[in-house]
Amino acid sequence: MFPAGFAALPRLVRLASRSARARGPAGAIVRCAAGGHGCDDLLAGCADAIVEFRELLDRHLRSRPVDHFETFLHLLAAEEQYHWSAALGDFSDDFYQVDCPHCAAEVTIAIGDHGRYSAIRDWHLGDVDRRGLGPASPGSLSGVGRWMHETAVRDGKTVLADGIAHLFGRAECPRCAGVFDIADEYASFHRPVM
Ligand SMILES: [Zn+2]
Repeated sequence: MFPAGFAALPRLVRLASRSARARGPAGAIVRCAAGGHGCDDLLAGCADAIVEFRELLDRHLRSRPVDHFETFLHLLAAEEQYHWSAALGDFSDDFYQVDCPHCAAEVTIAIGDHGRYSAIRDWHLGDVDRRGLGPASPGSLSGVGRWMHETAVRDGKTVLADGIAHLFGRAECPRCAGVFDIADEYASFHRPVM
């Protein structure tokens, strides 16, 4: 299915510039490139279409559409940020599981309406021993975190921007009190095994 999808990508991108309906399928094709199924080579063959798709998605984001978040995920994939494209939530009710790099405890990171904390998840008691997160200041962000944050701020998405600042900030391990970068640990924990 995927090779056929890639063959269709340039045409879908051309269509998407005129019709919003083609944007979803084009985004889905780009997002499937994650996971190392040999799609990377196919994607390289579509380089022009990807560049065009990126510009199209960015223009759409600037118009602050109702499908802003979905478009944001498509754009992350088009920027080859497959991991975040697949993992990022809209921060309404998000949990990220990471291993503490100091003591290997399983730490639950919550970023949502119910709170922003690190905790140890207990299946009977819920999230116990909660610690508040230390969000990154916008000036300290770099790389994809900075880009994601700047894009969210530009588009007036305060919940998204604030969530990203927390996700790319620091957490304290409830077990050993060691401090770590959430995004780094999360990305390494979930990096696909090739
Ligand atoms: Zn720890």
